[in-house]
Amino acid sequence: MKNIKNYEFFTNLADEFGFNVVGITPAQTTNFNQKGLDEFIQKKYHGSLTWIEEKKELRKSPKNLWPEAKSAIVFGFNYGPQNNPLLELNENSNAYVAVYARRKDYHKVLKGRLKQIASKIVSKLKAKVKVFVDTAPIMEKPLAHSAGIGWQGKHTNLVSRKYGSWLLLGVILIDKHLDCQSTHNDNCGTCNKCIKICPTDAIIEPYKLDARKCISYLTIEHKHQIPTEFRKAIGNRIFGCDDCLAICPWNNFAVTVNDIKLNEDNKINLIPLKEWLSLDEKSFRKLTSGTTIKRTGYTRMMRNCLIAAGNSGDKTLIRNVKKFIKSENTLLRGASIWSLRQLMSADEFAILKNKNIALEKESDVKKEWI
Ligand code: SF4
Repeated sequence: MKNIKNYEFFTNLADEFGFNVVGITPAQTTNFNQKGLDEFIQKKYHGSLTWIEEKKELRKSPKNLWPEAKSAIVFGFNYGPQNNPLLELNENSNAYVAVYARRKDYHKVLKGRLKQIASKIVSKLKAKVKVFVDTAPIMEKPLAHSAGIGWQGKHTNLVSRKYGSWLLLGVILIDKHLDCQSTHNDNCGTCNKCIKICPTDAIIEPYKLDARKCISYLTIEHKHQIPTEFRKAIGNRIFGCDDCLAICPWNNFAVTVNDIKLNEDNKINLIPLKEWLSLDEKSFRKLTSGTTIKRTGYTRMMRNCLIAAGNSGDKTLIRNVKKFIKSENTLLRGASIWSLRQLMSADEFAILKNKNIALEKESDVKKEWI
């Protein structure tokens, strides 16, 4: 980086709008593993995220998205939790929600701020810009790596020496060549804690993720029934998973910053499963209003709650789960049957099965009884 004043202009903007770190890199993804993306798609590791395949060429370079782009300004926003979220995984009767989703939808909050930053850049530098927060096929993590913000760890997420695993990213592309930071070193070394802790072995080797096995994918993106082999590993997680992030030793040095707007914690992670299971669609929408959880929708979230209830060992949930075997939705009927099988004694379950199996017309749901 040559021009300090130039960089200071951006760090001042980052400070003013509550971002914790900023880096600048040419608008090309030098740390982007093209072969890795090709393999990821070829082996179908993206599961039902078909947009990854469809927008593959666009993802390869910010210039494919906007040919006029010359530089990328990458902003990082720290959302580190106050306490280690791994401890919450032992609270079986409470539902676990990923740390980033416990507050206001960051897409909206951060995009609003980046737009304000963008208008200041436009007026100062007389430049054209485009703003991105996890909403377009832009490779934020390789760009953040190139911009010196951190490195992509063996779990494929960004790691920062200062903020550990907990950075949300936003990118502004600009049609001007700016002075850039040097790329960050990879500091994973011989550590492989994130690979070891993954409950579903989704990190199939260092720097390679099979999203189809990832609990975040299964609970948030996957629209169908959760494959049986992953249900127990899901534990009490109803929206996302933070294990690979939370275990990273770089978190020991992480600074936690509170931002009032985004850290407006609505305690959504402390809601007991019993309460989740008693929600109807209307009360679900009210509870999750303004969060990213709302976009996953009532049906998928209830499916996840039923799986988590099955893993809870809490027999008092049987009543709450039972009402879903009459649901019109096949996903919920199926998940409730699995859940009851875990919670009830073999004799109790056999009685329930004999009463209901003949009434079931859908083969997929019938399989759950069998
Ligand atoms: S847990 Fe270890 S291997 Fe994984 S990202 Fe952190 S330092 Fe790298």
